[in-house]
Amino acid sequence: MLAVENLHSGYGRIQALHGVDVHVGQGEIVTLIGANGAGKTTLLMTICGKPRASAGRVLLDGQDITQRPMHEIARLGLAHSPEGRRIFARMSVLENLQMGAVVADPRHFADDLDRVLTLFPRLKERLTQRGGTLSGGEQQMLAIGRALMSRPRVLLLDEPSLGLAPLVVRHIFQLIEQINRDQGVTVFLVEQNAYHALKLAHRGYVMVNGRVTLSGSGAELLENKEIRAHYLEGG
Ligand code: ATP
Repeated sequence: MLAVENLHSGYGRIQALHGVDVHVGQGEIVTLIGANGAGKTTLLMTICGKPRASAGRVLLDGQDITQRPMHEIARLGLAHSPEGRRIFARMSVLENLQMGAVVADPRHFADDLDRVLTLFPRLKERLTQRGGTLSGGEQQMLAIGRALMSRPRVLLLDEPSLGLAPLVVRHIFQLIEQINRDQGVTVFLVEQNAYHALKLAHRGYVMVNGRVTLSGSGAELLENKEIRAHYLEGG
C-alpha cells in the first residue's frame, strides 16, 4: 500500500536518508525504531513531501506521490501525526479537529467527528478548551484525532509516546491498535519506545544513520539479540 524505494533526503548539505526501502501492506501496523537522529522523523516528513526527496520514490497504492504537494497527498488518503504533536495551541479542540478535516468531504464531517470523539471521550469533554492547555496525553490524542479527521487509509505516527507517563503510553498504544483493527487504517509508526511499538506491530524496521539495517516481524525483532541490547534495555 505504501512503498518507499531507495529514498534519499536531507536538509541542504546534510544528508539524512541514504537510500531507504520500506513497505507497509494494507491493514498492517509497521514500526520503525531507531536512536535519536537516525532519520525517522525525516523519513515520515519526506513521505509527506517536505523535505523533498533528492532521489528515490514514494508510492501510495502504486501511484508515485514523491513530488506531489502535501494537500494532494492528504487527499489520496495519507495522514501524518507529527512529532511533538504540533497541535494548534491557541485553537480549541474542536477547531483543531476541523483543521484536520479540511481535505475531507464536508458531508462526512459530523460522522467523522463522532467517530473521533467516541475513540477519544476525553476530547469530547474538552471541545471548547484551547489545545495548548491540554495535558501531554490529551494533546497526543488530539494530534491523532486530527489526523483521523481526514479519513486516512494510511496513518503516519511520529513518536506518539514521547514524554508521556507509562499508563498513558499503554492507553495510546491500545487506541492505535483499535484504530487499525476496527477502522481498517494502515499504520506506519515511528518510535523510540521500541518495546511497546514492536509488540504492537506486525512488522518492524530498524534505522541506523539514515539506513535500514534490519527488518522482520515484530516478534522476531523483539527476540533479536542486537535489538535487545541496543533498544530494549530495561524495556
Ligand atoms: P529523534 O528520535 O531524535 O527525533 P530521528 O530519528 O527522528 O531522531 P531526524 O529528526 O530525522 O531523526 O534527524 C536525522 C538527521 O537530520 C539528524 O542528524 C538531524 O540533526 C538532521 N536534521 C533534522 N532536522 C533538520 C533540520 N531541520 N535541519 C538540518 N538538519 C536536520
